[in-house]
Amino acid sequence: MTRSESLLPAYITHVDCMRHEMGADHPECPERLSVINDMLLTKGLLDFMSSHDAPLATELQLARAHSLEYVQGILNASPESGYHRVDPDTCMNPFTANAAQRAAGALILATDLVVAGGVPSAFCNIRPPGHHAERSTSMGFCFFNNVAVGIRHALEHHGLERVALIDFDVHHGNGSEDILQNDPRVRMCSIFEIGLYPFSGENSTASNMFNVGLPARSGSDAFREAVSARWLPALEEFAPQLIYISAGFDAHREDDMGNLGLVEADYAWVTHQLVNVANRHCQGRIISALEGGYALSALARSVAAHVKVLIGAD
Ligand SMILES: [Zn+2]
Repeated sequence: MTRSESLLPAYITHVDCMRHEMGADHPECPERLSVINDMLLTKGLLDFMSSHDAPLATELQLARAHSLEYVQGILNASPESGYHRVDPDTCMNPFTANAAQRAAGALILATDLVVAGGVPSAFCNIRPPGHHAERSTSMGFCFFNNVAVGIRHALEHHGLERVALIDFDVHHGNGSEDILQNDPRVRMCSIFEIGLYPFSGENSTASNMFNVGLPARSGSDAFREAVSARWLPALEEFAPQLIYISAGFDAHREDDMGNLGLVEADYAWVTHQLVNVANRHCQGRIISALEGGYALSALARSVAAHVKVLIGAD
């Protein structure tokens, strides 16, 4: 790889992330990653990115966000065949532990590249997602909290002091809040739909949590007003050294999981706002990782709109 290629925005994924599956008709399906990959390729966006295979996160790296007993339990829980169920909506097949280790490993690599490698930004096309995974609990399609693992790596391995986490998935990121609440080095800004799984987030008492619950059918204007009024002042004041995004796209109006009614233009708009903050405070450094998003066509289009802005092509 030439020097100029190595400084392109990073695209991080791994084929192992497609071997985890939770049964026919489960919405959190392997095709989510392939439709995104195909769309980024078709749109020519991968021509402007450097592609990387996600490494396996180590037990030590995972244990910065989870208890070691929990980490070892998940790594040993994949069944020889069939499924091992962990909640009504979440189960493991023989490849799940490996996929989860790759998904978290993507955030480790992204952090190393962006913090220490001169890479401007990264998008991690990964599954299983992570933001519902708590310190010692798997739930909501999630096993390891990928973004929290990346954030703790930035803080504890690279020595950063202020990291922001943005979560625009339609569901509240209860796992990220569970792990990161009251960590003064982290400021988490989230928007979610009130009344949806996991029915949390409205009554947070942690001073580093900036949660905005929006009612169903709020639409684009309410979303943008909430970002402008609640997130952007909090981010300006905090002056983060690095921004992570839990990028879920299930608030899209074509996605049956939620009812906020967002469209691709909203994902491009919010990404522009975050790029502006990053340019002012942290040399544009942003790491984005896939969370939810289940309507395959809308998912692929929304990710393309997000990534195009993230890499400065829009
Ligand atoms: Zn979601």
